Amino acid sequence: MIKVEHLTKCYGDFTAVSDLSFEIDEGHVYGFLGPNGAGKSTTMNIMTGCLSATEGHVRIEGYDIFEEPKQAKRKIGYLPEQPPLYMNETPAEYLKFVGEAKGLKGGELQRQIEEILRQTKLEHVKDRLISALSKGYRQRVGIAQALLGNPKVIILDEPTVGLDPIQIIEIRDMIRQLGENHTVILSSHILAEVQAICEKVLIISQGKLAAFDRPENLEKLLLASNAISFTVEASKEEIDEVLGGLGQITEWEIQAKEDKGTMVSVKTETENVRDICRKLFFSFADKKKAILEMSSKKANLEDVFIELTEGEKREEEECGVSEE
Ligand code: ADP
Ligand code: MG
Repeated sequence: MIKVEHLTKCYGDFTAVSDLSFEIDEGHVYGFLGPNGAGKSTTMNIMTGCLSATEGHVRIEGYDIFEEPKQAKRKIGYLPEQPPLYMNETPAEYLKFVGEAKGLKGGELQRQIEEILRQTKLEHVKDRLISALSKGYRQRVGIAQALLGNPKVIILDEPTVGLDPIQIIEIRDMIRQLGENHTVILSSHILAEVQAICEKVLIISQGKLAAFDRPENLEKLLLASNAISFTVEASKEEIDEVLGGLGQITEWEIQAKEDKGTMVSVKTETENVRDICRKLFFSFADKKKAILEMSSKKANLEDVFIELTEGEKREEEECGVSEE
């Protein structure tokens, strides 16, 4: 359905997206997950034909977005990070304007507007000025305009950013519903969000694809990065014995041997890191070995990004193309 091949985007001599390749199949909800600055918006802007690429190809159902933009764009509805809403129009007026720009007219335009107002639950505010609507409702108007023309693919850039928890739930429900008869791609920097909505997740880190997997597999990856560090008055052999008998610990490493004890770092797949800390404490205490210091760190998305991209140190490529 969508094929992105070796996509690279340079802003001046800064490479925002670097050799990105992936394929999107029809009929799923996909998530672009990555920290701020990862290159999600840049990728989406290129995929939707709003921004040129430095290198690479994007094909939407076989149409090249750069060479056949008209046909390709017709397949896509896009909600950019900053939706271009006209504050002094009403949702009904705005949708009419966008629909006409997409080439719809007459009865068909009217029919689609009514259907989309219903779908996005905007009917009761359709004649209010957009400036008077809450952020949640404005976001619905943004989604509504993306749906005009009945595109197969809906691309939503951080659709829940800046919304309150109730609005977030409403927008997520709406996205799930859209996923029933569209291919949806949304971006987010929140793992829990893509876990809640997406069937497949692309992790983008520093402009590169770090992982493409189902959310439950990413969760495993994340849990495997939970870490505990401690210093104990024990030898390597004694430490190996205690940790080996503990279970729930995937790997450990002796960091340093100092006068005051041995520094150890431990990784565990268990969500309850505190429970492991307690077990470590009592296991060493049983052997009359004192733990002098201990700290734990629950892995977050950043850690997974770092783990996934470790060793792939970003090369500062000289693209020599200046834009924007
Ligand atoms: P994300 O959406 O994942 O937060 P972006 O695609 O917006 O990331 O940005 C990726 C990187 O490219 C960031 O480091 C950002 O500062 C840079 N960037 C984005 N747009 C421009 C631009 N118009 N000019 C220069 N740098 C840009
Ligand atoms: Mg962005």
